[in-house]
Amino acid sequence: MALIVQKFGGTSVADPAKIKAVAERVLRTKKQGNQMVVVLSAMAGETNRFVDMAGQMQEQPDEREFDVLLASGEQVTIALFAMAVKGMGGDAVSLLGDQVKIVTDSVHTRARIKSIDTSLINKHLKENRIVVVAGFQGVTEADDLTTLGRGGSDTTAVALSAVLKADMCEIFTDVEGIYTTDPNVYAAARKIDRITYDEMLELASLGAKVLDIRSVGMAKRYKVPLHVRSTFTENDGTWVVEENKNMESMLVSGVTYSRNEARITISKIHDIPGIASKIFTPISDAGVVVDMIIQNTRAGEMTDMTFTVPRTDYKKAMDIVRNLDIAGPDQVSGSEEIIKVSIVGVGMRNHSGIATTMFHVLAREGINIHMISTSEIKVSCVIDEKYTELAVRALHDAFSLEKDNQPEEE
Ligand code: ASP
Ligand code: MG
Repeated sequence: MALIVQKFGGTSVADPAKIKAVAERVLRTKKQGNQMVVVLSAMAGETNRFVDMAGQMQEQPDEREFDVLLASGEQVTIALFAMAVKGMGGDAVSLLGDQVKIVTDSVHTRARIKSIDTSLINKHLKENRIVVVAGFQGVTEADDLTTLGRGGSDTTAVALSAVLKADMCEIFTDVEGIYTTDPNVYAAARKIDRITYDEMLELASLGAKVLDIRSVGMAKRYKVPLHVRSTFTENDGTWVVEENKNMESMLVSGVTYSRNEARITISKIHDIPGIASKIFTPISDAGVVVDMIIQNTRAGEMTDMTFTVPRTDYKKAMDIVRNLDIAGPDQVSGSEEIIKVSIVGVGMRNHSGIATTMFHVLAREGINIHMISTSEIKVSCVIDEKYTELAVRALHDAFSLEKDNQPEEE
């Protein structure tokens, strides 16, 4: 008998008929002799609807009340789901975050889980019930409701899997798994069977949206095997697991891109100690996360500083830079028409020449690279946005990602 945690996202529980279909599927797995803990999101679109209504009450909605409101979407789906199970002759119990005692810190709208009490869940499991837990929510030590940040139900599922020592955590969604690239950009994209936590972390931070990145970090820390799969088929999805020997032969696992990028350049400023701190301290104080930074030294103790910020923070960052007393208006320039394209793979660690292949492929397509950054298992290039599709497809082809198994190195 296995203990399985299954999480279903908003599109999987979007209406009563879908909730019933999910209940039927969970019951089937239960009848195979497994203990089941189910984590649900709100119906697709609900949480956004709440955010919108909150904005009609207060320009900056009170964060405590905002969490009370946002947590309500999951209360609806878990209750309906438990009813559906009972309607089919099974037994289920719905539990809210505060009933389970998913205790978080008090940072409303993006709280972090501190502890989870397993006793109530275990009691119901022992009594042979399907336990249905509301995703995305917790409670502070002072009994205030909290939410974990948008997309936080994945994190609830992984956290429960960790404390319950579940055999696996299955994340059900509206796609078949993790793909070698975005299938909407390139139809040759292939579903990946197995991927490491580290690769998944890179893919999630570089623009892949299937899994919430915090849940991947937690799965890695607690070694929770994750299975990302579709609610609407029986097919196996993608396993996110620890690295093993076979995986090293994969040079590149995926090509990803992010459009939420913008570039800012400050040119011909004095190259003196403290200049970087002067530029980046106010930007980070404003909550803007800087990604890549390039500093070019010019002749005569002058330097150029170029960096990228999320496109959604471009105006904010530009205003800050323009108000620094280190550069005149004509020394500051920028662009919102860039993207970041990246290749990710654990095989890069033991293999040279992957980055140069990427540069060569982009050059062959006539695509200019504006900035480059690398880590042990990824290479990212900033390019003009108009080349997004071309770059993704060319890189996908160059690393033969449409094939199931890449040739092993000699
Ligand atoms: N319902 C929440 C959201 O839309 C949490 C989740 O779905 O994971 O962000
Ligand atoms: Mg999600």
